[in-house]
Amino acid sequence: MRLEKLRAAVVRVGKDLVPTGMVLGTWGNVSAREGDVVAITPSGLPYDELTPADIILVDLQGNLVEGKWRPSTELHLHLTLYRRRSDLNAVVHTHSVASMALAASRHPLPPCTEEQAQILGGEVPVAAYAPPGTPELAQAAAAALGEGKAVLLAHHGLVGVGATLDEAWLVVQVVEKSAQIYLWSCLLGGPVPLAPEEVRSLRERFLRDYGQRRS
Ligand SMILES: [Zn+2]
Repeated sequence: MRLEKLRAAVVRVGKDLVPTGMVLGTWGNVSAREGDVVAITPSGLPYDELTPADIILVDLQGNLVEGKWRPSTELHLHLTLYRRRSDLNAVVHTHSVASMALAASRHPLPPCTEEQAQILGGEVPVAAYAPPGTPELAQAAAAALGEGKAVLLAHHGLVGVGATLDEAWLVVQVVEKSAQIYLWSCLLGGPVPLAPEEVRSLRERFLRDYGQRRS
């Protein structure tokens, strides 16, 4: 039952990718982890037609647990990140325009807004180039990501991670919006990055104080 909920959550984010402009067509991919099982979108199926039964379940080595389709071609990328980071339970990969403009320029995204400082906790780095779908891309992305929340893939796209699927989805949206703001700011003489101590303080305050729950 919990794996069914995981599959449904992956479908929910998958269906948001195209309408929000985060991908075109069937590019991009989404996964979520529960223990040793990863639920990932299939390769090349239209997102608007996805149902939970289309989501593939694999173990952390990529062995099929359950599913009727080929998994995303970026399976290596997702599994490598999960194996390296026990704190991650979700990975979202997009081909969104402003992030790709930075990725095409191999230009990292410095923290210039309080949103980026709070949600991402710093700069978004650019991974060394490697062709899509390869183990080399997975290694390059993991190395550049380190303990961070997001990484740009050179000439390719964006990867956001999180402890939950909601967090990974928020991360890619904040990176894309921050990349848009960064590019617009360049027209106004260039954005002013926040000082590292201010970024740290904003992130700490966000983790400590932000949000509340209805009782
Ligand atoms: Zn891609």
